[in-house]
Amino acid sequence: MSLTIGVDIGGTKVGGGVVDENGNVLATTRRPTPADDTPGVIQAVKEVVEELRQSHDIEAVGIGAAGWISSDRSTVMLAPNLSWKNEPLRDKVAEAIDLPVVVENDANVAIWGEHKFGAAKRHRSSVLYTIGTGVGGGIVVKDNLLRGTNGVAAEIGHTRSVMPDGRQCGCGRTGCLEQYASGRALTRAAQEGAAEHPEKAAILLKLAGGDPESITGRQVTEAARQGDEVALGAFDFIGYYLGNSAADMVNLIDPGVILVAGGVVDAGDLLLDPIRKHYQEALGNRAQVPVAEVRAAELGSKAGVIGAADLARHREIVP
Ligand SMILES: [Zn+2]
Repeated sequence: MSLTIGVDIGGTKVGGGVVDENGNVLATTRRPTPADDTPGVIQAVKEVVEELRQSHDIEAVGIGAAGWISSDRSTVMLAPNLSWKNEPLRDKVAEAIDLPVVVENDANVAIWGEHKFGAAKRHRSSVLYTIGTGVGGGIVVKDNLLRGTNGVAAEIGHTRSVMPDGRQCGCGRTGCLEQYASGRALTRAAQEGAAEHPEKAAILLKLAGGDPESITGRQVTEAARQGDEVALGAFDFIGYYLGNSAADMVNLIDPGVILVAGGVVDAGDLLLDPIRKHYQEALGNRAQVPVAEVRAAELGSKAGVIGAADLARHREIVP
């Protein structure tokens, strides 16, 4: 049995898991992510790997990290959340643990997990949106990760075909999808809606103690479940942008399935129904011929660990 470890470097924790060749996670562990401390992050990865290695025979390690990863999968060229620039993560970790290492973008490892073992496994081409604090994107075309010339393809969250002159984005541009379709955008839409129309946000405001500015994402989901008009409107708001973006992906990629993942997907059909509605509207005549279904991803928070571990197993194949 070939075993590899997948490691997910997130903003708050470094999570790792031992994964077999069928995508089963056999053991997991985690450490806190030391922010703004690169040697500390590498130490955390090392500790995670060393702990998991004590009970399993490991052949390689895959790492998923938010940021732009070089095309040879060795270097984090830019990772705003971790303050990394041109960080040779692969070689530093490989030196620390004495195992082969593969580094890949966090959304790319997630779609790879879904492609091999999850909601996209019946399709050769697929698109993934990860809706969290921001919006991540991953694309698989004909069983290959779309990585691009420089390793930075599929940044769907920073496309801006829907609103090019819109809100300022952390990437230095304005109007990116991320500003209109993230968990943060959902909360902001609900906060603004409740401030403007408190009479339509009675349930939401009650949950938030009466103050629109203290509304949280969790409260938006809870209020929408109870039928709150402003909360439902906030889901419709981000669903509009995601649905329009998904229709663009159909024109660009013609995937077999479009997946939605990330924390906000816990809301289920509260999120998926508006996306599907606006997606159908945005397809135009394209809806008259076969077209990808929009559905929730299946592997949840384990997708990154499973995908990274599988990329490490097949590390000789650089897509
Ligand atoms: Zn952006």
